[in-house]
Amino acid sequence: AAKSQGRNRYSVFTPSMQDVAQKRMRLINDLRVAIAEHQFSVFYQPIVDLKTGQIRKAEALVRWRHPVDGMVSPADFVPVAEETGMIVDIGNWVFQQAVKQVTQWRKTHHPDFQVSVNVSPVQFRNEGINQATWLAQLSAAGLPGQAVLIEITEGLLMDAGGNVTEQLRGFRQAGIGLSLDDFGTGYSSLSYLKKFDIDVLKIDQAFVRNLTADSDDMALCNVIIVMAHTLGLKVVAEGVETQEQCDLLAAAGCDYGQGYLFARPALAADMPLNLAWESAPADL
Ligand code: C2E
Ligand code: MG
Ligand code: MG
Ligand code: MG
Repeated sequence: AAKSQGRNRYSVFTPSMQDVAQKRMRLINDLRVAIAEHQFSVFYQPIVDLKTGQIRKAEALVRWRHPVDGMVSPADFVPVAEETGMIVDIGNWVFQQAVKQVTQWRKTHHPDFQVSVNVSPVQFRNEGINQATWLAQLSAAGLPGQAVLIEITEGLLMDAGGNVTEQLRGFRQAGIGLSLDDFGTGYSSLSYLKKFDIDVLKIDQAFVRNLTADSDDMALCNVIIVMAHTLGLKVVAEGVETQEQCDLLAAAGCDYGQGYLFARPALAADMPLNLAWESAPADL
């Protein structure tokens, strides 16, 4: 049957599907070149303490400057980098950059500064992360595990085999915290929080976006914060764009905020670290 289908196999492709396939092939090729020619950079976005307004944490976010197309959003290339396995090389490089940067910030800004790094499920597969190398980079820099935090998503935990569990345990034993990204969009299973010893919950920006208009979203944020605190976790709200959202979250006891209200992701040199976020509700 396969043989008889062979000849006309592509006839179901409409021109626009061909277009999509061609764009994808170009993207894959361009990503290969990007890795070889170091076209990536790491942007950082501050994570602001909502009680003090201080910045002692930042998230590392990869950026790709395509020689022709300019800045390409990770939303557009990370999925393809995951499908092709290229995220492993990219992720190793991002981690290395993050270690360099946090070393510097611990000297120039605050000794407890922490940078969180997104790690894709693909990086946990097939020994994608050379954990020994990551830990060696930290110790070579004279850093404790607490200098970095690993951001994972529920998808990883849902089908976490022994290998993933083992790697997560290895990070935890080295003092590296685990942050659960985009919380609320997946299964939001409480059992994972305990089982995998998660330290930080990041409330997905989908719930923060309509906080002021949608009382359900406010209720959800409240529940997540109370639950997280009951389990001894810290909470970061993602996508905080307005002072109103910030005030509501702070009043709900949310520990940290991240979003355009405070700062957009930027090169390390452009991060407004020393501006303790002055309009943070100091009176709360
Ligand atoms: P994420 O880890 O949930 O990162 C937060 C995203 O929200 C970032 O998008 C950030 O720029 C954006 N953001 C921050 N504040 C606001 C705000 O106030 N409003 C809105 N609308 N957006 C805000 P970005 O940098 O485009 O990254 C998208 C996703 O790509 C990340 O989501 C993460 O899943 C992935 N990603 C980024 N860097 C890396 C990386 O180095 N490795 C891996 N594996 N994934 C990465
Ligand atoms: Mg993240
Ligand atoms: Mg997120
Ligand atoms: Mg995300």
